[in-house]
Amino acid sequence: MKFSNAFIPTTKETPKDAVLPSHIYLIRGGFINQVASGIYNFLPLGKIVLEKIKNIIKEELDSSGCQEVQLGFITPCELWEKSGRFSKYGKELLRFKDRKENCFVLGPTHEEMMVELVKNRVTSYKQLPLNLYQIHLKFRDEARPRFGLLRGREFVMKDGYSFHADEEDMKREYQLMEDTYKKIFNRLGLNFRVVEADVGAIGGSGSKEFMVLANSGEDTIVICEQCNYAANIEAAKRKKRVPPTEAPEFSGFSKFHTPNVTTIEDLSKFFHIDPYYLLKAVAKKAIYDDKEEIVVFFLRGDDELQETKAANAVGANELVDASEEELKDAGLVPGYIGPYDLKVKYIIDIDLKDEKNLICGANEKDYHLIGCDLEKLENVIYKDIAAIKEGDLCPKCGGKLTLTKGIEVGHIFQLGTRYSEPLNALFLDENGKSKPFVMGTYGIGVSRLIAAIIEQSHDEKGCIWPRSVAPYLVDIVVSNIKDNEQMEFAKTLYDDLLNENIEVILDDRNERFGFKMKDFELIGFPFAVIVGKSLNEGSVEIVDRKTLEKIQIPKEEVLEYLLHKLNR
Ligand code: ATP
Ligand code: MG
Repeated sequence: MKFSNAFIPTTKETPKDAVLPSHIYLIRGGFINQVASGIYNFLPLGKIVLEKIKNIIKEELDSSGCQEVQLGFITPCELWEKSGRFSKYGKELLRFKDRKENCFVLGPTHEEMMVELVKNRVTSYKQLPLNLYQIHLKFRDEARPRFGLLRGREFVMKDGYSFHADEEDMKREYQLMEDTYKKIFNRLGLNFRVVEADVGAIGGSGSKEFMVLANSGEDTIVICEQCNYAANIEAAKRKKRVPPTEAPEFSGFSKFHTPNVTTIEDLSKFFHIDPYYLLKAVAKKAIYDDKEEIVVFFLRGDDELQETKAANAVGANELVDASEEELKDAGLVPGYIGPYDLKVKYIIDIDLKDEKNLICGANEKDYHLIGCDLEKLENVIYKDIAAIKEGDLCPKCGGKLTLTKGIEVGHIFQLGTRYSEPLNALFLDENGKSKPFVMGTYGIGVSRLIAAIIEQSHDEKGCIWPRSVAPYLVDIVVSNIKDNEQMEFAKTLYDDLLNENIEVILDDRNERFGFKMKDFELIGFPFAVIVGKSLNEGSVEIVDRKTLEKIQIPKEEVLEYLLHKLNR
């Protein structure tokens, strides 16, 4: 490609709402442009990177036996009603009607469509297993689209679905997909972790996410310093905590006057007792399909509630804050809530199971209970609802857990019969018995990956593309296009590189040298060859974008040098 012919509208302007490097550089580098909130065009450079990522994904999936299909982006509401997701999915699902009043949604994910495709076409165990995928558009009307391609409304996803005769075979495929995804993300040059993930209300027996480690990530992940344990904070576990101090001693279980002592901090000061021994109450409004209710979650005073775990613990779709009014209506006394004689549903964190010598609210203004023994409570539900924090201990090996941020770029999920059953997708097993398919589902955020790569690979000047996805590998920058010798040399090198199948761009624009170099740095091609004044002395300069190191190379050796550098 000749730069003078290319449509690469680089700009110095930083978009107003852009805070992350990937968002800023992808727009400034002329890779993408925003059409509307969360909707982007891909310009030629962006499209090349997108296609390269797609190809890597396709190569690895195909070699693992998956088959590519392409389903309609627009999907009939009827299917969503059958699976029960039409009402559940909420506002992210964009619904509309056609001229004949038929209801449709823009596909946010395609379980229903894929089951429908396979249903009645695959009817026997002999046709199983099957793993079908597509790399295609998705639309989710996200509440807060942001960070450019990281959280769009329209985005490109690889979504795959596998069909099996039994759990065991589905688990084999799940492992194969984990291994395949690792190969894909390694080829993309990413520093990532595979983490245990929340399986949510669907249940399912297992789920893992692929997290690109980056400070800008929206997910918090928990990593063991000692072993390979890693989990999304929404699913992370820990060993039972070690008491920070000796347990307090109380003469018995009794009510204690604690006027205006309503926070854990005040309570800890008032009794001179470590918050570990205090019961913290977090009241939330749990939203279900058909109702809402106030639920109280009890934790140690120095633990925090993990809302996803807490929502799962009560089977709610989500938890929202309850107003003071709603709490009072439910008979709660804010600041003094405790589990004894509580009138609403409550859950106690698993770390507190059967603990003694605690202090908790008395459900009466200005009073707490001391010397509480949870064993004495009846029908208590203990669940893991606390957020893991730095320094908690690994559930696997007891090592120290640390927290870090990640960008979710992939997700694999053991689905079971969650969709095949309601959609009545059946096959005949070896004994002629009709059974629903056992399924797995596997996603990759393809357009999100473009941004994730740059979040991990940039400097203050711009993008630094890994070679596997760089839009061009070499940028030949002609310092002065009016200099015939420079142009001749550059063109010959350009042709030679093309002959070697190396993607090369020739910057033959009638622009200042500094301007062209700024574009090289902003766009982030792996190498620049500067054809300038030193050509008179028989040499050119090669710049490595990653290190910005420059070396002078005799002009006869440039081709060989680049081939060597690019492992050709
Ligand atoms: P998130 O938690 O980030 O909202 P998700 O768990 O809803 O993602 P999945 O349904 O698992 O996403 O979708 C599979 C993959 O699609 C994700 O791993 C992610 O990489 C990508 N993805 C999801 N939502 C978006 C989005 N709004 N913009 C870009 N990519 C997305
Ligand atoms: Mg996910």
